[in-house]
Amino acid sequence: MVIDFNKPLVTGNEIKNVTEAIASGILSGDGPFSQKCHQWFKNELGFKKCFLTPSCTAALEIAALVLNIGPGDEVIMPSYTFVSTANAFVLRGAKVVFVDIRPDTMNIDESLIEFAITENTRAIVVVHYAGVACDMETVMDLATKYNLPVVEDAAQGMMSTYKGRPLGGIGHIGTFSFHETKNYTSAGEGGLLIINDDSLIERSEIIRQKGTNRTKFFKGLVDKYSWVDIGSSYLLSEIQAAYLFGQLEVATEVNAERLAIWERYNNLLMNTDSFKSGRIQLASIPLGCQHNGHLFQVKVKNVDERDELIRHLKDAGISAPFHYVPLHTSLAGKEHGVFSGVDRYTSTESERLLRLPLWYGLSVVEQEYVTDSIEKFFKG
Ligand SMILES: *Cc1c(COP(=O)(O)O)cnc(C)c1O
Repeated sequence: MVIDFNKPLVTGNEIKNVTEAIASGILSGDGPFSQKCHQWFKNELGFKKCFLTPSCTAALEIAALVLNIGPGDEVIMPSYTFVSTANAFVLRGAKVVFVDIRPDTMNIDESLIEFAITENTRAIVVVHYAGVACDMETVMDLATKYNLPVVEDAAQGMMSTYKGRPLGGIGHIGTFSFHETKNYTSAGEGGLLIINDDSLIERSEIIRQKGTNRTKFFKGLVDKYSWVDIGSSYLLSEIQAAYLFGQLEVATEVNAERLAIWERYNNLLMNTDSFKSGRIQLASIPLGCQHNGHLFQVKVKNVDERDELIRHLKDAGISAPFHYVPLHTSLAGKEHGVFSGVDRYTSTESERLLRLPLWYGLSVVEQEYVTDSIEKFFKG
């Protein structure tokens, strides 16, 4: 049996929408399908203002621009994340201040953020790893106390909630990814910028529209459009929006199916000797966090055992990679960042973790094969 780590979501609605978009003759951004997507996010997730972007990376870049991040500024974030979380702010000249993670969720340890805040801190960036929410209540309280904006990197968190509130809609700014490895995709690449703070909406629109007031022009609020601020090309193609809308139409069903797959892995593994004897450890989801089945993580003793297990699974035809070499240990991370306090969990916990195949359509038989193969590794 061969089991891929990821298979991009295909729902069957994409081609019909893409064909319609081509026939309409509108291919550039913010056309009818983009509007449908924006409306969907408004109705289903309650985002009052959001914009499709070419990637989550681009959405994070707009966040850094609209927050006026510049040289000498410090931005707080976890080290256990994708490079884009840091790059967006480093591109503006900021120094990244890495904060340790919690071993249960692999999310930023909210109790350590305050210690990292200095007079140069300009933003707190949280990452909802595996679509499991950070402790947003504590984070938002700190943000209020120190008057700092919060950016939620919810790249993995679409359809997840924290105390009933959709991720991406809690901080001042949120971002989603529609890369093919995420739960929903706009044909391989794409993202969403969510602006929850009214005072940031107008400038975000301008930055996204290449620094022009084109959006105001289309709304009939100015009689010509011109260059008014810095900006770049941050719209998603209408063809990609059409593709994405085909997935949004069935997002609730897809989410339920992913959660069922996640639960099945969890039940299967909890019944193994490997789990009962403590040789593998599974994620624990904090109360109030409803996740979206984005990824299934397994932790083992240490990096050597993890790499052996990955090889064992590969020999069995199963692709089960690890990810995120902590940014503070990487070449660019050392140059542009500093770790605040002690790296108690980031390095050790990331070295123990591997991810199991998880995609819409993964069968029970395939899941049982994966969990049996893990059990065989510890028995053999
Ligand atoms: C996938 C991911 C990104 C980058 O998303 P792109 O759409 O590929 O730019 C950023 N942050 C996190 C946490 C991610 O998982």
